[in-house]
Amino acid sequence: MALFETIPLTGLIENGIRTDGRKIDDLRPVSLEVGILPKADGSALINMGKNKILAAVFGPNEVHPRHLAKQNTGIVRCSYRMSTFAVDERKSPAPSRREVELSMIIRQSVEPTIFLEYYPKTMIELYLQVLCADGGTRCACINAASLALADAGIAMKDLVAAVAVGKIDRPDPPTIVLDLSDVEDKEGIGDMPIAMMPRNKEITLLQFDGTLTPDEFKEAYELGLKGINELYEMQKTALYEKYAVIQENIEQNNGKNESEEQSNE
Ligand code: ADP
Repeated sequence: MALFETIPLTGLIENGIRTDGRKIDDLRPVSLEVGILPKADGSALINMGKNKILAAVFGPNEVHPRHLAKQNTGIVRCSYRMSTFAVDERKSPAPSRREVELSMIIRQSVEPTIFLEYYPKTMIELYLQVLCADGGTRCACINAASLALADAGIAMKDLVAAVAVGKIDRPDPPTIVLDLSDVEDKEGIGDMPIAMMPRNKEITLLQFDGTLTPDEFKEAYELGLKGINELYEMQKTALYEKYAVIQENIEQNNGKNESEEQSNE
């Protein structure tokens, strides 16, 4: 997908066009890559606009300390960290309250999709490292996290896809838009991150900051659903691509072995 151009606007939306050239129902350019960290059990990299986030999964492994293990189910631990260089002003390397809260929110958004009952007495660790932040990092993290979990071979009901929908104005009247950028997140008048297991439309995260009328909420939900379905297709493609490469390598190796056997005969 072509990068959207940044066009000079005094407000956030003018004649239906946003500061980065997108229409109201456009996602930012998204790229997803699976299995990029050889030392993790599962991993993914997401670029969503200028967000660049790495997700790594370890496990299921033995729980430490052991008394935290649960007899009948596995547990998920999640760590969201934003790098000091991820934002315009250097961020303190010390973990912030925001990072602690987002770690919990991301964990709660992906946990419902995991068959944790298959992994009693174990833990699955999920690490999200934000290398560059551009608004909507929690949603981008959820998209990458569910891919990394699938890459680790964790039994799941579905992938989880997430996007933020919001309300922006100036000079146009308040408009519901898809996938808020950093400036829209900060200067807009509403922000609603949604995460969902798209197959049965089970919502795993719905937050809201601002005010929406019932009609606006309906419009925002429909727009969010459109974005989530687009992201879901991209997630599935990213997984298929990884396995297509593996399949190609296996076929090449099989072909090589067969020709070696023939030349030995
Ligand atoms: P989300 O990233 O999920 O939208 P927030 O609403 O807390 O979560 O953050 C919005 C955006 O604000 C982030 O994506 C990031 O671009 C920016 N941001 C967050 N924390 C900081 C910080 N400490 N310094 C500068 N910008 C920040």
